[in-house]
Amino acid sequence: MENLYDVLVIGGGMIGSAVARELSRYDLRIGVLEKNLDVCYETSGRNSAVVHGGFAYDTGSLKARLCVEGNRMMGDLAKELDFPFLRCGKVLVGNTKEDMETLKRTMEQGEANGAVGLELIDEERLHELVPAVVGKFAMFSSRSGILDPFQYTIALAENACENGVEYFFDSEVTGIGRDEEGNYHLATTQGEFACRWVVNAAGLGCKTISDMLGIEGYRVIGSKGDYIILDKRTGPLLPMPVYPVPSNTYMGIHVTNTIDGNVTIGPNADMVSDFRYYGVPQENMDYLAESASQLWPHIHKADYIRNYSGILPKWVDEQGVIQDFKIEIRDELAPRAVNLVGIESPGLTAAVPIARYAIEQMKEREELRENPAFNPCRKGIVRFESLSTEEQEKLIRENPDYGEVICRCEKVTRAELLQAIHNPLGVSTLVGIKYRTRSMMGRCQGGYCQMRLEQMIEEELGKKETEILYARQGSQVFFGKVREEA
Ligand SMILES: Cc1cc2nc3c(=O)[nH]c(=O)nc-3n(C[C@H](O)[C@H](O)[C@H](O)COP(=O)(O)OP(=O)(O)OC[C@H]3O[C@@H](n4cnc5c(N)ncnc54)[C@H](O)[C@@H]3O)c2cc1C
Repeated sequence: MENLYDVLVIGGGMIGSAVARELSRYDLRIGVLEKNLDVCYETSGRNSAVVHGGFAYDTGSLKARLCVEGNRMMGDLAKELDFPFLRCGKVLVGNTKEDMETLKRTMEQGEANGAVGLELIDEERLHELVPAVVGKFAMFSSRSGILDPFQYTIALAENACENGVEYFFDSEVTGIGRDEEGNYHLATTQGEFACRWVVNAAGLGCKTISDMLGIEGYRVIGSKGDYIILDKRTGPLLPMPVYPVPSNTYMGIHVTNTIDGNVTIGPNADMVSDFRYYGVPQENMDYLAESASQLWPHIHKADYIRNYSGILPKWVDEQGVIQDFKIEIRDELAPRAVNLVGIESPGLTAAVPIARYAIEQMKEREELRENPAFNPCRKGIVRFESLSTEEQEKLIRENPDYGEVICRCEKVTRAELLQAIHNPLGVSTLVGIKYRTRSMMGRCQGGYCQMRLEQMIEEELGKKETEILYARQGSQVFFGKVREEA
C-alpha cells in the first residue's frame, strides 16, 4: 500500500515524542499526528517540571520503576539533547510526629524502589539548604531536579524529526478502522493515514483513542492543578523545590524554582471532567498563595507575573482508586496497537523509560532492525543571556543579529528568534517561538517584544498579519486593518 507508515503515534507531547524518538533508532517509517499546532500545548507544557526521585510511588509499580530509571538517565539525556536540567535536590518539609512517621515511610518506600540520595535532615540542615523555609525537619532528595518542560519536549521532538520522523500538526485523529490485512486507517482532520502499528500517546485523549481502538472500559478522570508564576526577583531565594509532606495520592502545594530563575506556586488538585478549560480562578490563586506561604514566606502579589494550569489524566478503577500507568498491547482486541493510558505524574521524569518499555513490547511481537543513521544528539538554540561577556562578544562579531536584543526582560536576541522561527518542526505560532526562546516570558509578558516578534514572523515566513496565530487555530492576533492608509 502506498503511503503506509510502519508506525503512527497519536499525540506529540513528551510521551509521543519520546516514543517517536526512541522508535527512530529503528529502520521504520514513523509519523506523529498531533491535533494542536505544536508539541507542548497540553500537559507536557503545563506541569511542575520537577524530575522526581521515585520515592512517592508504590513499590513494584511501573510509576516507581520508570521514574527511578528516568531520574537516573536525565543528566545524560539533557547532554545528548541539549536541554536545560539542574539536579538541585528537593525537600519534603514536616513539623509534627505524624509528618515524621510519613516521611520515614516515604523514605523506606523510596529505598525499596531503588531511589538514591534520600536523607532525613534536621531543622538546622534544612535551613542551610533552603534558608527561608518554615519547618522543623525534612526528607532531602539530593537526586531530584528541575528542567524546562518546553525545551525538553521540543528537544525530543526535534531529535525524532532529525532522525526521519514526520510530524503532522493540526491533525486530530477522529476515527480508527482496520482493513483485512490488519493495517490501521486513521481518519484525521487532515485526511486519512494508514499504518501497520499505532501508538496511543494522546494524554488526556487516551480513553477516546483507546475506545476507538476497541479497547474499551477505561475510566479516566482529570485532576486540574493551577499555578502562579513569580518574578525572577524571587528565584535566588529558593535553591530547590519545597514540598509539604505528601499524602498517598497527592504531592501537595509546593514552591518550585524554575530552571530560568522564576518560582512557581501550586498545584491544587480539582477533579474535572472538562479537559479543555485551563482558566485559573482568583479564589484558587488566593488559596495557593495562602497555603504555600506556610512553607515559604516570600509570596507577595507584586511578584505575580502569570498563572497557568495543567490537567492530569488519572486512570481510576470502579471505586475511584488511582491506578498505575497502563502500557499494553492487547493482541486479542487491537493487535499492533500500543495503548498508553493514565500517563500522569511522574510522566515527565519517566518519558523515555515509558517509551522504551512500550517499544520492548513491540519487539516481543516483531523484529525491529536498527537504523544505522540514527543520531542521538541534537543542538538547541544557544541562550545568549547565559554566555560570558567574551562569548557574547565573539557571537556578535560572527553574527551581528546577536547584538540586537528583541525581548528585553529575558534578553533574547534577534539571532535566537530567527533560529526559532525557522525551527525544524515548522511551528510558526507566537507561543511556539516563546517556548523556544523565552521571549514574552518575562516580567512584561510580551508588552515590548510581541509586536516585533509578529513582524519577524511575517517577514521571515512570508505570512500576512492576519495569518499570525497566537497558539491554536482561530487565535488570530490581527483580524484586519483598523483603518486603510489614504
Ligand atoms: C499539574 C501537573 C503537574 C505535573 N508535574 C509533574 C512533575 O513535576 N514531574 C513529572 O514527572 N510529571 C509531572 N506531571 C506529569 C507530566 O506532565 C505528564 O505525565 C506528561 O506531560 C504527559 O505527557 P503526554 O505526552 O502523555 O501528554 P500531553 O502533553 O497532553 O500530550 C498528548 C498529546 O496528544 C494530543 N492529542 C490528544 N488527542 C488527540 C487526537 N485525537 N489526535 C491527535 N492528537 C491528540 C494532545 O494535543 C497532546 O499534545 C504533571 C502534570 C500536571 C498536569
